[in-house]
Amino acid sequence: MKMTIRDMDVSGKRVFVRVDFNVPFSGDGVISDDTRIRAALPTIVYLMERKARVVLASHFGRPKGKVVEDMRLGPVAERLGELLGAPVKYVADCVGPDVEKAVSELKDGEVILLENLRFHPEEEKNTPAFSKQLAVLADIYVNDAFGTAHRAHASTEGITHFLPSVAGLLMEKELNALGGLLASPVHPFACVFGGAKVSDKVGMITSMLKRVDVVLVGGGLAATFLKARGLEVGHSLVENDSLDVARDILRESEESGVPVLLPLDVLVAREVKAGVRGKLVPVTSIPSDMGIVDIGPRTIEYFFGRLESCRTIMWNGPMGVYEVAQFSLGTKCLINYMTALDATTVIGGGSSVDAVHEMGLSELVTHVSTGGGATLELLENGTLPGVDALADAP
Ligand code: ADP
Ligand code: MG
Repeated sequence: MKMTIRDMDVSGKRVFVRVDFNVPFSGDGVISDDTRIRAALPTIVYLMERKARVVLASHFGRPKGKVVEDMRLGPVAERLGELLGAPVKYVADCVGPDVEKAVSELKDGEVILLENLRFHPEEEKNTPAFSKQLAVLADIYVNDAFGTAHRAHASTEGITHFLPSVAGLLMEKELNALGGLLASPVHPFACVFGGAKVSDKVGMITSMLKRVDVVLVGGGLAATFLKARGLEVGHSLVENDSLDVARDILRESEESGVPVLLPLDVLVAREVKAGVRGKLVPVTSIPSDMGIVDIGPRTIEYFFGRLESCRTIMWNGPMGVYEVAQFSLGTKCLINYMTALDATTVIGGGSSVDAVHEMGLSELVTHVSTGGGATLELLENGTLPGVDALADAP
């Protein structure tokens, strides 16, 4: 367990909060989805109510260590102000005399947002001198940016060497939910894996295989596993480099007795695009000129049959190319059924979370993780550099 802001006396203190305000913008410079800003509100409001002087910092996009005008955080400060119903100051850099002055002028309960941390190359290089420049701005460091905690950067790791460092409320929620899956899940426990790249996910799959009672594999991943079992998969997305590790996972499953279930039938198509008609086939007869785009109805029933008795379900990665309407049913059915079960349900991964939001079902899932890579890495390694660096609860 890590210490959190609840364990600190923050009144009158300058509190540096690393948040994840890397929000999507639509073409015309308008924030198209402010979920990430809203996710940080509990920590910010907690600190404001306790009269802390709140210094917020985030990365945005990939400016590669240079100032990029349309990656400034001014619009984010504005939106945050609207959501808080209180003014949010904004300063056009994140270190240096001007920033120090602006922070020193903060009154108790006030909030300032610093400029994009990644305008300085030292942020991603985790340069101690830069971490120190950030640290002089505050008395306490809070990490609430779960989605960036798998990176050891100046604002997520370096700074913790100079300040008392604790978790924010969003970070705490993520660690409780995902840590709970690792430490004390209620069994039967199932993991559902889908999505595109096997290589991104083998670490997590291998690690979770040791903790769960059953693993279900769909999505693009399934093609590599089916091929590893010797089946013809047409022109499905296959990572030939990952065939060996897929075989390792299947072998481990046989040895441990934890089943890894693959699709029985799939929807295949000649091309992955809108308007193209799919065809349902058993996995044993995938035409050579077609590729897998979704799981089929027998698979949905088969998977659901296994999930029905589960008390904990972790789901990562869509079951098909859910962005294309006629290939989205496998993903939608499984999410839908999952939320109908009397189980603790956790969903992680950028696309998976997208799909749940789109369906309007986030409220029915026990925990929707805000981290993409961070979620996968935590489940693989049990810890993250940006979390390790925080003080342990006594
Ligand atoms: P997440 O972000 O949830 O971790 P991934 O990033 O691994 O998931 O994968 C998401 C992508 O996988 C989606 O864009 C989806 O279209 C794609 N995908 C799912 N199934 C297939 C498939 N059978 N063939 C190709 N791509 C697929
Ligand atoms: Mg993804």
